[in-house]
Formats: sequence, C-alpha cells, structure tokens
Amino acid sequence: MTDEPLFPTIDILKSRGQAQLALHERAAHASSEKFGRGVFLRGVVEVSNFCRENCAYCGMRRDNRGLARHRARLDQLAELLVHHRPASITDLNIQSGEDPVVVREVVLPLIKILRRETSLGVSVCLGTLNRALYDDLKMAGASMYILKFEIADPDFYAEMTAPGNLVERLQHIRELAATGWNVSSGFIAGLPGQTDAGLLANFSRARELPLAGCSVSPFIPGEETPLANAPTADIELTLNCMAALRLMRTHWIIPAVSALNLAEPVTGYRRGLRTGANLVTINLTPPDLREDYVLYKRDRFIMTEERILSAIEAEGLKPSKQCLADYCRHKKATPTHAWRPATHAAAALNR
Ligand code: SF4
Repeated sequence: MTDEPLFPTIDILKSRGQAQLALHERAAHASSEKFGRGVFLRGVVEVSNFCRENCAYCGMRRDNRGLARHRARLDQLAELLVHHRPASITDLNIQSGEDPVVVREVVLPLIKILRRETSLGVSVCLGTLNRALYDDLKMAGASMYILKFEIADPDFYAEMTAPGNLVERLQHIRELAATGWNVSSGFIAGLPGQTDAGLLANFSRARELPLAGCSVSPFIPGEETPLANAPTADIELTLNCMAALRLMRTHWIIPAVSALNLAEPVTGYRRGLRTGANLVTINLTPPDLREDYVLYKRDRFIMTEERILSAIEAEGLKPSKQCLADYCRHKKATPTHAWRPATHAAAALNR
C-alpha cells in the first residue's frame, strides 16, 4: 500500500467485505501513525436553538414552529463549565443555531470567563456571522471555528435550502482561515437525492479548502422536517467516507459524530473510532436545554463522559493529554500545503 494521500473513487466509498475492512484498517493505521492512541476529548454546550436558516435536513430550521426556542443562561453555563466540567476534557465547543443574539449575549462573555478561569481550548460552531463578530470571538479567546459546507454541489445545496448559499459559505470558510482561525468543516453523507458525483464532490471541496479538520455526518431524517420520511444514511457509506477522509488528509482532526449512534445504534459510534476518527465530544448541555436542541429527533442519544470513555477504552484508545487548540497551534507553526491560509478570500462578510 502507498502512503500517498488517497482521493477516493465511488468504488472505494461503496466498498464492502474484505476491501472495506482493509480501507478501515488502513485509515485507523494512518491515524495511529500521526496521533498514536490518543483521541482529543472536547465538551460541547448547545447554547441556542433559535436559527434564522431553514435547512431541509434539520429539525431546528426556522419553519419548525413546533419547537420551543431557548437561549442558555450565561451564569448557568459558567458555573457548570468552570466548576463542574468533566476532568477529561481539554477543549470546549460552543454550538448554536444561527443566532447572532446569543453570540453577543452569551457566547462572548462565556469565552472570556473560560479563558480567564480554565485552560480549555475553545471552539465555536455558530454559523455564518459578520466579520466584526468573528473578530470579537477571536479576541475573546476562541481559536477554532467549525463551519460545515454541508453539500459541495451548488444545485443540491440550494435544493436542500442549506444555509445562505454555497458560494458565500465557502467565502466565509476561506476568510476565517485567512484571518487566523483554525477551521474545521464537514459534509453530510447519504442525503436523499445525493448522487455519486455529488458525494465525490464533497471530497474535492474538502481537499481544496484551508482546513484543520473535517467531519462526515450521516443523514438522519429529522422530525418536523421535509425529509422526515426519507431513509437514514447507510452507516457503511458514512464510515467509508470517514476512512477515505483520513487517508486523504492524515493530519486532520476528524470527529466521531454522535449521529453515528443514530445511523447504527449498537456499534456505529465505536466503528467510527475504528476508521481513523481522532476527536470525541462529551455533551454538557444542561438537560433542560438539551431536549429542545433537536437537530434530528427529540429522542437523542447523549454522549456522556462515561459512554465516551468506555467507547475509547473498548477500542484500545486513550484520551489525549494535549489540548486540541494547542495541537492546531503547533501544527500551524509547521504548515503543510493543506494548511496555507487562502489569500484570495472574499472580504464581504457583513450579512
Ligand atoms: S443545520 Fe444549522 S443552520 Fe441549518 S437549520 Fe439547522 S441549526 Fe440552522
């Protein structure tokens, strides 16, 4: 086998049997060569389920009138994260629907508190914002921005009413990277109507973006969405995409997303750890907020510290001692071609 970066074919992405096993083993090996047995452990808090976007695949879309909308309280989150967070996490991701109000009222002051009171690295996943808010978030102390392109094919992106438009979203990704953020992106596997060419386009898009990491989320039919009756993504396709991503960019941060539990309830998540994933996320959202943060279904499978640690251990992995934010900072100091910031990024980010 070659160590050259792999660009997948559709046959690779649809492989089964021995070929699939070899693909997964090769991806796991590539991950262990770069990261050893260590897996980054990040907490996540979901701070608002208000969203001004209307993605066809998401239960938090603005047209879902059946959802009670909430924003988290700053004091509640600060108390939880400063004094009662799990000892195992090195980083925290603050996630929200696209809701600039919560960014100003909760996220910015929370980041300042975390940076002052803890050693946590801070990631944010808040949708597309304006340049001033991005700068404020960075000044407050966040260093990683998660902005998924979701769907690489522009027509399919529009058909799925994914956020804003694809051109603008890609501009934001490039601009974030060009202004010093470590950017992680992601796409959805198994969306109803996704063609083979459309699936492969996600890899081309991910490859040309200035990313520190990328995720693959299996499509899960969300309640109260136009796609509620569509079939769940094939877990095998999702895992093959994760493995191919690892072999395309061996140094990337690739998470095992919690939706793997919904795509294959018994073993999906652990199988994700066997295909080269190197980041796991413990959900720390207070229970009273969690039940209305409905990306897919109300009946969520919550990744607690106990579940995460036992999945890692069962796969022969161990929590990384290194903070994800520190890893990215050091990695940036020794860039590869994939880390060069885009210099041609558009500056018009003032929605
Ligand atoms: S996927 Fe994100 S942007 Fe789209 S509706 Fe859901 S929360 Fe909003």
